[in-house]
Formats: sequence, C-alpha cells, structure tokens
Amino acid sequence: MRSAALADIAAEASSCTRCALAATRTKVVFGAGDPEARLLFVGEGPGRDEDLQGEPFVGRSGKLLDRLIAEELGTDRSRCYIANVVKCRPPQNRDPKPDEMAACRPFLDRQLAVIAPAVVVTLGNVATRALLRTADGIRSLRGRAYPFGDAMLVPTYHPAAALRSGGEVVAEMRADLVRAKRLLAAAGPLGGGAPQGAGERARGPLP
Ligand code: SF4
Repeated sequence: MRSAALADIAAEASSCTRCALAATRTKVVFGAGDPEARLLFVGEGPGRDEDLQGEPFVGRSGKLLDRLIAEELGTDRSRCYIANVVKCRPPQNRDPKPDEMAACRPFLDRQLAVIAPAVVVTLGNVATRALLRTADGIRSLRGRAYPFGDAMLVPTYHPAAALRSGGEVVAEMRADLVRAKRLLAAAGPLGGGAPQGAGERARGPLP
C-alpha cells in the first residue's frame, strides 16, 4: 500500500521540471528505504555520486551514515527511509535555493504523509531549517527533539560536516542518534512493524 503510493510519487518526480535543477540533474534522487520505516532521515539534496546513481547518500557521507546507523541504532538503511529536501542535485553542490526547496517540498511532504515515521532525523542546517521553519543553525538546534506533526524530529549534523570536522561532531551525531533510538523504542520497531493503521492516520499540518 505505502510502497505503491511512494512509487506513484516517485514516478511523478522522475519527470519533474518544477524548478531549475531539472536542467542540470542526471537522475532524480527520490529517496530509498523501507516504506514502513519508523525512522526517516532527511538530507538537503543529492551530491555528485547520488546524482549519477539515483540513490541518496551513496558517497563518503553515505558510508559514514551507514556506519552510524549500524553502530548507534543497530540496524541498516534498508530498515529506515532516506530522502532529501530537494530531489535533484544543485550544481557544484551549492545549497538549494529557497524557490527550489519550495518547488520540491510537496514531494517530501507526500513521502512523510505516506510513510508516517515516528521519528524524523534531519541531517544538517538546510534540512533542519526547512523542516523546523527556522533560521537558527544546527549547533543551537541539535541536542533535543522537537514535535513534528505526529512524529518527533531530531536534528543532527550532515555526515559531510562530520567528515570535515571529525571527532567532536561525530560524537555529537552519535548522541543524536541515541536520542532518536530512545524515541523509537517507545514507538515500535524500526521497520516492518508499524502499528496497524499508523500509515493511514491523518497527519496534522507540518509545523
Ligand atoms: S528538485 Fe524537485 S522540484 Fe526541482 S526539478 Fe527536481 S524534483 Fe522537481
């Protein structure tokens, strides 16, 4: 059910030309993972490797994310869902522009509505600011969880920042994932075990 709904949205995104990023992309990177996931990661947008392969977080950042998911959550990406704020690569890996994020946002909102995760982890400034609708930075936002519709949102760093900065940032990412794990523990298994009807429940407007 959720799988079919996501496939419909992905098919729509695959030919999308709603913003200027359509002109320079190789592949639309819609998102990947378990449609029944209780944990959903949101990054800012595809990089070079992702643009070429059509999959989110497949470069060095993705490898670090995979490692942290394994070590702190005891699972792997196949039991989570990973998406981005924009589905097409911004040239030279620049931040997505406000009009590009606005044009693409309905795809992310529809993914969130279909998957109905218990916990959303935002990766980095762009994703965190977009979902929490704030101008504050990740350093001040991380370290706690925020109500987000029917879910809880846990902000953390983008893995690329952790690769650049090293030890302390990685340690803080680990702590953020532990926070997400605690929230998930109250909400049920990471994937494939969503409470009956959870995906169909009405979601309030995103904050
Ligand atoms: S980034 Fe989003 S809105 Fe822009 S062309 Fe790609 S799918 Fe469409």
